[in-house]
Amino acid sequence: MALSPSALPDDAVICSCHNVTKHAIGQCASLAEVKQCTKAGTGCGSCVKVIEKLLPAATDKGLCGCFPYGRSELYEIARTLRVTSFAALLDSHGRPEARGGEGCEVCKPTVGSILASLNNGYILDGEQASLQDTNDHFLANMQRNGSYSVVPRVPGGEITPEKLIVIGEVARDFGLYTKITGGQRIDLFGARVDQLPSIWTRLVDAGFESGHAYGKALRTVKSCVGQTWCRYGVQDSVRMAIRLELRYRGLRSPHKLKSAVSGCARECAEAQSKDFGIIATANGWNLYVGGNGGATRATRTCSPRTCRTPNWSG
Ligand code: SF4
Repeated sequence: MALSPSALPDDAVICSCHNVTKHAIGQCASLAEVKQCTKAGTGCGSCVKVIEKLLPAATDKGLCGCFPYGRSELYEIARTLRVTSFAALLDSHGRPEARGGEGCEVCKPTVGSILASLNNGYILDGEQASLQDTNDHFLANMQRNGSYSVVPRVPGGEITPEKLIVIGEVARDFGLYTKITGGQRIDLFGARVDQLPSIWTRLVDAGFESGHAYGKALRTVKSCVGQTWCRYGVQDSVRMAIRLELRYRGLRSPHKLKSAVSGCARECAEAQSKDFGIIATANGWNLYVGGNGGATRATRTCSPRTCRTPNWSG
């Protein structure tokens, strides 16, 4: 039998993104207040259902002090009414006292993400630029100590020796710590903000672009070596991964989006544990959706027959 959140001890951590305990949540009267005062529920969001169970039944489910609606309701409002700006959404659906204001640190990035997902335009255009966090402006990921990490896109994990050498030279010349990521890319850590333009100039000149390692967007489509090299492979998983990554790069979503392609049922790319994953069969490809572990999980599988699309051949 599942333990009710009310049975947890006061020092139990409810929001692990922001290290917020049950006791701290108990000091608040509404979800909006919890988010505003403790930041709990504003990270990955998977703890929101638990937080709601810890609050009084008649609690205000609003996103923050500016909006009386939750994220999914705001998404539907923006989608159905075709709202394209934060100011318009705040004026039409914000709390009366918040209308005409500038929003807060909870609703601005949330609405920024909703608008970016719906409109999918250039996210630094016009008013939207002020809704994005620092990372999107610098094409780099701010780290604990205020330095930045830079992750060039490496579609499908396929990279030439020449590009590897450029990454190595950039890391050496700027004194950066390098690490291979779980998404088959190379992360360059420790860049100062004033170094970022020079770093990106060298990377772009070598043919790289941002891998969006900081964005609520498609991150990577990793792959195993597949049929070309592996004796068990039944399809070209590298080609498929590259096609998917190049097709969906830049796509904004409510959360980071990761994928993988395996060249056979042995599943070396761990596609079933990605947000969407693809596994080759002798007859085509199986598609798995919703595999990335979270508080709730739904996995669906397509049969090779329904997923066998001629355009998807390697
Ligand atoms: S998933 Fe299959 S094709 Fe890919 S590396 Fe593993 S064994 Fe080889």
